[in-house]
Amino acid sequence: MADLVITGARIIDPANGLDTSADLYIQDGRIVHIGNGGGFPPGGAEVGRIIDAKECVVTPGLIDFHVHAYEHVTPLGINLDGRCLSRGVTTAVDAGSAGCSTLNGLRKFIKDQSKCRLYAFLHIASHGLASAALAGLKDGGEIDSLNQVDVDGCVTSVRDNRDFVVGIKLRISVAISDNGRNEPEAYRRALQAAGEAGVPLMVHHSFSTVPTVRTPGVLSCPGDLRAGDIFTHAFHWHKGCLLDKETGRVYHDVWEAKRRGVLFDIGHGFGSFAWLEAEACTKEGFWPDIISTDLHTASVDGPAYDLTTVMSKMLHLGMPLNDVIAAVTSKPAAAIGKSQEIGSLKIGNEADITILRLDKCSIELEDTRGETRTITERIVPVRVFRSGVEYPIQEIVPWPNSASKEKCQKACKQYAAYAQSKQSL
Ligand SMILES: [Zn+2]
Repeated sequence: MADLVITGARIIDPANGLDTSADLYIQDGRIVHIGNGGGFPPGGAEVGRIIDAKECVVTPGLIDFHVHAYEHVTPLGINLDGRCLSRGVTTAVDAGSAGCSTLNGLRKFIKDQSKCRLYAFLHIASHGLASAALAGLKDGGEIDSLNQVDVDGCVTSVRDNRDFVVGIKLRISVAISDNGRNEPEAYRRALQAAGEAGVPLMVHHSFSTVPTVRTPGVLSCPGDLRAGDIFTHAFHWHKGCLLDKETGRVYHDVWEAKRRGVLFDIGHGFGSFAWLEAEACTKEGFWPDIISTDLHTASVDGPAYDLTTVMSKMLHLGMPLNDVIAAVTSKPAAAIGKSQEIGSLKIGNEADITILRLDKCSIELEDTRGETRTITERIVPVRVFRSGVEYPIQEIVPWPNSASKEKCQKACKQYAAYAQSKQSL
């Protein structure tokens, strides 16, 4: 017996080294069999519903590793089911919307109320992003005072919420840190807290006084990140980016961090994905480990849109499809120590499954500077199942959004003016 079988698709499951044409069987919300050629269910038992997925790609339920889902509480919060599950994402990871003072609300009002599975990186600032918005456009943010950068509170909260909290988050940027004065100490405390709690640290590092290149006696980023820590916003192009703009090459210290096991995450967002930097880095062979949206109120109607749009951008840059799928399934699952539960089509696991289609197209897609490239292949979600239950896919309209391109071009000028005003720092 099987409740459901998805037939005829190409199944890509990087965790299990699978790229094959086969049928996938689901029973009682779990994956019970993958194979073809008959013989299942045993004894010729009935199959309930049959979905023909010819010319589609079936993958483990997609994981969006960087979103902001604390809706109504933080300025950046979007609706988790409406914006993630409805676009093929079955697990999302909130990137520091809550700190130890506000985590219970994220659990009670968002995680427990949503169909999409949610994990969280806990912000090192106890109030998280409750009053914080984008960094780098104007002053004001979560580490303007170090009084709320509470190592003990953070570590205790991680220990009390192991089922939910999978890491610690920090943003270092002059805009949110009393003009950079608090950056090194907040960074030091975040490293300490992550070490004590035994979880990875995710760092947003842009417009920062903390150097990219190692400097004796001074903390650097990613220089002081450890294996398993995450550098998010890999291609942001602002001050502190991974690319040496003078040589056009990725900094040696950045390559060294990658070899050491530091993970690089896209975290597209509203200000953190420049075609120029993505092209230069990937041409040199510097590919991200994880693809994520940094979906929030300012990025969700473009320029990030959804996870499959960001995946399409990486496909456009020449990242092989199997690597793109790994960067939204097996790799993010491993980064948060959840490989046994999510990110693969392991027999016996909850049936979190996404069905994708690759459409030929010719679409101008903007980056966060409002520059465009012509995308000729688009990954689109067709169906999504969370624990064996199907949820509707909702289209993004308009896609692409011309207003987003103009908004990004305007912000790009504002970022430049802001950076100029802080040049002395
Ligand atoms: Zn973010």
